[in-house]
Amino acid sequence: MKSLWAPWRLPYLKGKKAKACIFCLGPRADDRRRHVLHRNRSTFVIMNAYPYSNGHLMVAPYRHVANLNKLPSAVLGELLATTQLAISALQAVYAPDGFNVGINFGKAAGAGIEAHLHLHIVPRWNGDTNFMSTVAGVRVIPEGLDHAYTQLLPRFRRRAK
Ligand SMILES: [Zn+2]
Repeated sequence: MKSLWAPWRLPYLKGKKAKACIFCLGPRADDRRRHVLHRNRSTFVIMNAYPYSNGHLMVAPYRHVANLNKLPSAVLGELLATTQLAISALQAVYAPDGFNVGINFGKAAGAGIEAHLHLHIVPRWNGDTNFMSTVAGVRVIPEGLDHAYTQLLPRFRRRAK
């Protein structure tokens, strides 16, 4: 799969792995730079720096665990509640026709970062696969991350408890 214009995917595609786990968050002061949209009690929402579509978000627990079995049920519940919040924000900003929501466990399943589980939320639009992705073999992501962050952030602030 090639991209017409997605410069932020380049470092990823070149295979340079960051030393620090991107899902182990630092101070809140870094949230804008790292595109963290929302912090809940045990989970948070972060934008995917290598998105598959506009508004590709990820929800993760603060705890650095690879497996769902390592998460207490309260955190599991919050993971889904935070996902619900993220979907509401995406619906308000992008009005997509659908979503892919899921977790990849292990490289064989497509996980880019295996050590810290994260749930993907990918907005989908009618025709987005049959037009560019499958027919032409390319993917177009017209919107920059900073712009998307600015659009989405108020939606989370409004709904935060
Ligand atoms: Zn981590």
